[in-house]
Amino acid sequence: MSPTRILTGLGGHGVAAVFDTGKDGPTVLFRAELDGLPIEERNDIAWSSLTNGKSHVCGHDGHMTMLLALGRMISRQPVACGRVILMFQPAEEDGSGAKAVVADPAYQEIQADWAFAIHILPGRPFGHVSTCAGLINCASLGLKIKLGGKTAHAADPEDGISPAQAVAELIPALDALGQGGSLDANFRLVTITHVKIGEPSFGVAPGEAEIFATLRTTGDEGMEHLETMARTLAVTAAE
Ligand SMILES: [Zn+2]
Repeated sequence: MSPTRILTGLGGHGVAAVFDTGKDGPTVLFRAELDGLPIEERNDIAWSSLTNGKSHVCGHDGHMTMLLALGRMISRQPVACGRVILMFQPAEEDGSGAKAVVADPAYQEIQADWAFAIHILPGRPFGHVSTCAGLINCASLGLKIKLGGKTAHAADPEDGISPAQAVAELIPALDALGQGGSLDANFRLVTITHVKIGEPSFGVAPGEAEIFATLRTTGDEGMEHLETMARTLAVTAAE
């Protein structure tokens, strides 16, 4: 059995292969991500990235290979009823791809009754699959805080507005919002991933700063709450 249809350009770069048996039954979707990361891969494994400065270090190349293998199995041993969709989803890393695919009008034709995905996990023995009841991965949100002030000569810092003090306050305050712990409804984790103040010089008092933080919760409600608290902290520190 070959795919009865192949949809391309779904939500950007998404590709969906549709195996339609023409018989009544559920639509079951299996999904793999397509995207890589702007990270240079430094190793000499056979499947190492060939593109300078970019690689599949989150394992999405492995996920695509698994999904293609499932396609090969279905072509050799067709399913009895309903439809199977192999969904290659773009832009997983920044969270925008799934939303864009689902919002694409073409997706309405392949809406799934069931959707399945897996993610590789380093450290598991070869050939093993792990799962558990309930939640496995957290919701995550990237928060970018940009603080704007005014640069000044380092000899006259009082002529400028430096964001350094606000950054110094924000780092422990953001950290304190979410300390992790067990994965229950109250789980909150804030990880500061990047901080920059001014430029690397000795002559200029900084006029701008940025902080990147990743927020993690076990549900959407908790995320809304955590995001609001983080935003409030940023606004208060900037005043
Ligand atoms: Zn990933």
